Amino acid sequence: MSIQIFGLPVSRGVAIGRAVLVASSRVDVAHYFIDAAQVAAEVDRLRRARDEVANELVALKQEVPEEAHAELVALLDVHLMLLHDDMLADATKQWITERHYNAEWAMSAQLEVLARQFDEMEDDYLRERKADLEQVVERMLKAMSRSARDDNDVTAGVGSRDFGGEDPLVLVANDIAPADMIQFKRSVFTGFVTDVGGRTSHTAIVARSMDIPAVVGTREGSRLVRQDDWVIIDGDEGVLIVDPSPIVLEEYRFRQCQGELERARLDRLRHKPSVTLDGVNIELLANIELPADAPAAIAAGAVGVGLFRSEFLFMNRGGHLPDEEEQYLAYRAVVEAMNGLPVTIRTIDVGADKPLDRLSSHAIDHQTNPALGLRAIRWSLAEPEMFGAQLRAILRASAHGKVRVLIPMVAHAHEALRVREALEQARRQLDGQGQAYSHVELGAMIEVPAAALILPALLRHFDFVSIGTNDLIQYTLAIDRADEAVAHLYDPWHPAVLQLIATTIGQARAHGKAVSVCGEMAGDASFTEILLAMGLTSFSMHPAQIASIKQRILRADAKSLQMRLPQVLAHDDPQQACVQLLAGAARN
Ligand code: PEP
Ligand code: MG
Repeated sequence: MSIQIFGLPVSRGVAIGRAVLVASSRVDVAHYFIDAAQVAAEVDRLRRARDEVANELVALKQEVPEEAHAELVALLDVHLMLLHDDMLADATKQWITERHYNAEWAMSAQLEVLARQFDEMEDDYLRERKADLEQVVERMLKAMSRSARDDNDVTAGVGSRDFGGEDPLVLVANDIAPADMIQFKRSVFTGFVTDVGGRTSHTAIVARSMDIPAVVGTREGSRLVRQDDWVIIDGDEGVLIVDPSPIVLEEYRFRQCQGELERARLDRLRHKPSVTLDGVNIELLANIELPADAPAAIAAGAVGVGLFRSEFLFMNRGGHLPDEEEQYLAYRAVVEAMNGLPVTIRTIDVGADKPLDRLSSHAIDHQTNPALGLRAIRWSLAEPEMFGAQLRAILRASAHGKVRVLIPMVAHAHEALRVREALEQARRQLDGQGQAYSHVELGAMIEVPAAALILPALLRHFDFVSIGTNDLIQYTLAIDRADEAVAHLYDPWHPAVLQLIATTIGQARAHGKAVSVCGEMAGDASFTEILLAMGLTSFSMHPAQIASIKQRILRADAKSLQMRLPQVLAHDDPQQACVQLLAGAARN
């Protein structure tokens, strides 16, 4: 029977496909399709892993004297029985032979099926055997990862989206950490659904950067979907439909086609200059997470990178952070890919909902209140060696093109001084080594209300500012941006938020300093007019959003919008005022 589940829309469009349920703890299992010719070898890999685990369990059994540990021996017998049970062994094989999943994916897919069955069992003893099944699967996955390393025959990561002829797939999980989400870029999935998360959580941001439909905050979503169910993800409305009826399916297929036509239409704006009706040039920059995203920025017509979230280079590293050389090569790759266009590299911003590693034991990942803890520039200043290496790597990349450094979460003027000192020291060290670098401008992210309120003092130390509306909203309204339970209170239209943005833009301009917005508001077309009305001329967003924002800009009259701003800001309901007042200044 068809069910509709409501969540939060985070990435536009409609995806229709079969659900791949993944437990949050196993999101990092490799997901890719194998060729028909590889099926036999993949089944053999599964069999070898099973034999290896069976030998392991038998050896363990022999090590424990039965008289002393009868319970442990009985448990190992249960594990051996589960290992050979058809429900696990044969059914896993079937995912490989019929659906061409790689062995690890097949194994975790079948685990999800069986875990549901265990959950539904009446008998307490049987229900508790789910933990044993999970342990057996864990052993199998470990054995397969060993064999993958030995054979060196398996694609690392999550494989390609090129699944020629197979049904499209959408990933459904309780939660996906940003560090895991980034691994799904260019993966087999054509849509994402998670139970938790807010619209500007970093998981949602990465999903949006992939430009495929996504819904978060469905609360119960992953529990109500079964492995392989047909589902529709409506990323515009934030709806997940499970097992849709043929009529609903037809309607959504129609919407999918319309969405594609609309994209093709917007695509034609790619190389058109971004200028308002009254001739104001508006700079449209790209937000990227990895060097590999740079070509998409160029293809979308971005005139530079306004935000390179460098922290994604530091994730999934099992605690080994990239050294100066590795970072230099990554930054240089972006600078070169952007081919002379400016690249704004934000120094590492880990912490809060962006842990370094899902399984990390790093202190930064275990704070009592991480959003208010040692994150972003606070962490960098507390780790001078790591920070120095990053600054040197960025400076070295500046020898290859125009680079700007952006500091996240600045709240105090003394942080600016310490950053300047660290930058000076990095320059001296490079001079000592005879390494080349050129001039880099230093910018501050304005994302803590305190920074917005002391902006003139900060502007003495920084060359430019970039408004991080995602955090500015979170910290102004005291709303955790990643918590779906308070998502309804996360309000970019709140008059306090609008005032902070408007005064930041106004003051930066009055001081002759460049200002842009790089939070999600910049790429959301419902805010284009109000940001233009505030005098903003630089927007940074996911490459896929550039065309629709440009369309709004081409239809807007900046001067007339600016004249109407005071009325909007004075209104009790700025959103409504914006629609009424600003609509008059924009041509539809
Ligand atoms: C922001 O806070 O608006 C921002 C752009 O940074 P991030 O989303 O990475 O915190
Ligand atoms: Mg931020």
